[in-house]
Amino acid sequence: MTNIYGKGDKGKATRLHALIVRGFGSCQRCGSTHALQCAHIISRKYGNTRTDLDNAFCLCASCHMYFTDNPVDFGTYTINEIGEEAYGILLERRQLTSKVDWQEEAERLNGIARERGLI
Ligand SMILES: [Zn+2]
Repeated sequence: MTNIYGKGDKGKATRLHALIVRGFGSCQRCGSTHALQCAHIISRKYGNTRTDLDNAFCLCASCHMYFTDNPVDFGTYTINEIGEEAYGILLERRQLTSKVDWQEEAERLNGIARERGLI
């Protein structure tokens, strides 16, 4: 079976991050409760912001697809939702070159998911 989240502890952390983000319970753009997805603000290819809970919106599949196809609108939406300052913090964190301890990150997210009754 293909694992879209990745392998090992990094995959585990990524899967838990998505679970927590979807735990918001409805699309932050349109309010739908169907087909919820974790939509990264800064691409998940950047390790230091990949599983940051401030770096994602809970969106339904169609809003997520809309924003993927319309990145300028996504930028505007992001600034309206989180503000320039929070966005600036994410951009700074993205530049960090420190290696992420994925085992520790998976444990941290596991704790949050448990606290929120998601697992
Ligand atoms: Zn939506």
